[in-house]
Amino acid sequence: MAAQQTDEHKYVYDFSEGNKELKDLLGGKGANLAEMTNLGLPVPPGFTITTEACQAYLATGREPDGLAGQIEAHLEALERAMGKRLGDPQDPLLVSVRSGAKFSMPGMMETVLNVGLNDQSVVGLSVQAGQNDRFAWDSYRRLIQMFGKTVCEVPGEEFEHALDEAKSAKGTHDDLDLDADDLRGLVDAYKKIFAKHTGREFPQQPREQLDLAIRAVFESWNAERAVLYRRQERIPADLGTAVNVVTMVFGNLGPDSGTGVAFTRDPGSGAQGIYGDYLANAQGEDVVAGIRNTVGLQELEQLDKSSYDELLGIMARLEEHYRDLCDIEFTIERGKLWMLQTRVGKRTAAAAFVIAGQLVDEGLIDLDEALHRVNGAQLAQLMFPRFQLDHEFEAVATGIGASPGAASGTVVFTSARAVELAAEGKSVILVRRETNPDDLNGMIAAQGILTSRGGKTSHAAVVARGMGKTCVSGADAIDVNVPAKRFTVAGQTVNEGDVVSIDGTTGKVYLGEVPVMPSEVVQYFEGSLDPEHIDNALVRAVHRIMTHADGKRRLAVRTNADTGADAARARRFGAEGIGLCRTEHMFLGDRRELVERLILARAADEREAALEALLPLQRADFVEIFREMDGLPVTVRLIDPPLHEFLPPLEQLAVNVAVAQERGEDVAKEEALLAAVRRMHEENPMLGLRGVRLGLVIPGLFAMQVRAIVEAAVECAQRGGDPKPEIMVPLVGAVQELETVRAEAEKIIEEVTREKAVEVLIGTMIEVPRAALTAGQIAEAAQFFSFGTNDLTQMGWGFSRDDVEGAFFWRYLELGIFGISPFESIDRDGVGRLVRIAAEEGRAARPGLKLGVCGEHGGDPDSVHFFHEVGLDYVSCSPFRVPVARLEAGRAVVETDGSDSR
Ligand code: ADP
Ligand code: MG
Ligand code: MG
Repeated sequence: MAAQQTDEHKYVYDFSEGNKELKDLLGGKGANLAEMTNLGLPVPPGFTITTEACQAYLATGREPDGLAGQIEAHLEALERAMGKRLGDPQDPLLVSVRSGAKFSMPGMMETVLNVGLNDQSVVGLSVQAGQNDRFAWDSYRRLIQMFGKTVCEVPGEEFEHALDEAKSAKGTHDDLDLDADDLRGLVDAYKKIFAKHTGREFPQQPREQLDLAIRAVFESWNAERAVLYRRQERIPADLGTAVNVVTMVFGNLGPDSGTGVAFTRDPGSGAQGIYGDYLANAQGEDVVAGIRNTVGLQELEQLDKSSYDELLGIMARLEEHYRDLCDIEFTIERGKLWMLQTRVGKRTAAAAFVIAGQLVDEGLIDLDEALHRVNGAQLAQLMFPRFQLDHEFEAVATGIGASPGAASGTVVFTSARAVELAAEGKSVILVRRETNPDDLNGMIAAQGILTSRGGKTSHAAVVARGMGKTCVSGADAIDVNVPAKRFTVAGQTVNEGDVVSIDGTTGKVYLGEVPVMPSEVVQYFEGSLDPEHIDNALVRAVHRIMTHADGKRRLAVRTNADTGADAARARRFGAEGIGLCRTEHMFLGDRRELVERLILARAADEREAALEALLPLQRADFVEIFREMDGLPVTVRLIDPPLHEFLPPLEQLAVNVAVAQERGEDVAKEEALLAAVRRMHEENPMLGLRGVRLGLVIPGLFAMQVRAIVEAAVECAQRGGDPKPEIMVPLVGAVQELETVRAEAEKIIEEVTREKAVEVLIGTMIEVPRAALTAGQIAEAAQFFSFGTNDLTQMGWGFSRDDVEGAFFWRYLELGIFGISPFESIDRDGVGRLVRIAAEEGRAARPGLKLGVCGEHGGDPDSVHFFHEVGLDYVSCSPFRVPVARLEAGRAVVETDGSDSR
């Protein structure tokens, strides 16, 4: 799509030539100004210079051929329409030059107002405004200030400082108290500042002002803060910005003028009503700058009823047209309303659901569209407990919401102290300037992490998200002094031992303990809030949209659960079975002793005795799980981790043995254990004796587990239950491994189900790359595949999660080697390709082969869409993520398949 650099190429669009679909070319602001113009709304006339012109400028360092002429032509047309000329000394046309990229980048790029003013036209402007000198000189000083700062990089503080001086000379804090003479003096002061920094006089030629301002907007695309923001928000770097040239309208012409911003609904809660701020006698940027206190938009009704009514009418019209919440900027010039901007507005997670529900009620959108407009990340946010904030609590700092949740705790500054206090049962917040791999233990011990530096991809942020820990990063208002064990913020000092609260969703930091309240959405999922019978717009909207998602989705959603309690909870959250039941926890606690006996067994009978003792314990666990998941499939994975994980650590054991020997105690048993631990020590346990390999090496181990599963199923069936066990073999890389296990398992199944028929499936995990690549062979022996995408990611990339997340992921994210951690969201190109190959070749060998995924990716929105595309039958995720997966599985259908195909 290279801009062809001929006169024919169109770089400039009049507002009447564009529309809202042209955001790529005209930017969001320009496309929407055009849309409003074509709706017949009162938009000051103007034109948009395209993002292509910006891209061409940035690529070559000069304006593309033809641009200058097209600007000239559009400017002339504008002058004709307005009956004024740019910068005319008698009756000047003034314009604003406004940036506007495809994606909104608030405060990142530049706008210059009042272009066209100079020493002559300022007089004409005053005359035209009815001898309003004050207004004219105020407009002029604003131009020099904005132009100086934006176009010529004059430090903004110098202008601010001169303004403050003018105010204090007048003995006031309010810029409205400055009269025309004061402002004329300020213009002189500003011009001197301008000349001092740029080595030239403030340009008096209107057209030169315009061209320089346009160029400055182009260049603001590559300003450092804009680059950082884009990286943070994952906005592509090559889009460029459009430039809008808009006829000025004046909100600063007196008390019957003003400017404001508004939302068509409350972007916080979604509630219907009038939300906005209005500032009389001011230009637009004053509202944002907060130089004077705004009033609620409702008060405009008293001030100027006819503009107010017109505005409300326009807001209703915009909502109906965009079929969504809009935010707007407007200005009233002497009782005449002008629309300066609109767009589909940002909103909180709660408002997203509520508004989608309302719009369905209003008949503006259907449920497919409502489903499309919310997402799993928002739902996940609504499932965290929240701070119960009232007026008492005001944030002392705002950083980046790096990992969601609400955490309160005692402030600590070192990892060691965090570990110490956590061991005493205290909840702690680890506060650091930034974290590094040495802080890992402290991060694990802490309830939350707060840093004063770093963004969403900083070490703290990446590691915290990986651990599911609340984190606020980059709260730069906080000054951390680790040696002194304190930080200062907003003039207050917080010492080690004081309590703070951090909100990992909003990035806000509070002093003291803010009470936490449970999520209503979770209460709804758990069944303790009935959406039909409570007056809660959010719960009703969530219920409605979830119900629709469930009706749409093709992917089933199961859960990863190892206990009856987890299974029951996940079932309330909508899980349709268990996709991964890990059996290893059944080897912990007081059962460790049996594992030791198993490992130390010298003879077959000793080993068999240990296994026999484990059998009833395992069986009881399975009975409980089958009962909770009655009628739904339960995939049980045979033991996966290496056995030495169930033994005491080597160092500890060695010390114990040495101490006991010193004392002359009998240490024969400990010595044997120590020897076993030494023997079993592995350099790379992740790649060692685990999974199916264990089953093939330790006689009777898998057999015992299979027997426990099948006996439990038979027991449940005999009591009238409907168990659906699926036995899953981990870490298979070759079909022969699976065949060996399967032959043994089938014998046991046959024997045990003779009493009572129960269907038992046998399948395998696909988590070793070789398994994915030989899936056609493996499918001959497997009744189902479950992709273990954690291991598949580890082995596909050749790194272990525990080692890498703290060590170098932050750097990889910073460099853009990953857009997101491949453990958070599946790497479609590499690991995803393995999944695709295995799915296709597996199904080719065994039509109807059941396919699922049981890594953590099963609860990640993007990954769920990928698994839908690949055609898996189900995803399985932790109980808490089940609703997110349900929602996203539904969204995947409305997004990829079109609304009605299933
Ligand atoms: P941002 O994207 O930062 O909001 P804008 O381009 O919208 O920047 O402009 C900054 C402020 O100037 C806004 O309040 C806007 O309403 C106001 N503004 C822009 N153009 C005009 C104009 N032609 N007449 C009056 N006010 C304007
Ligand atoms: Mg704006
Ligand atoms: Mg695994």
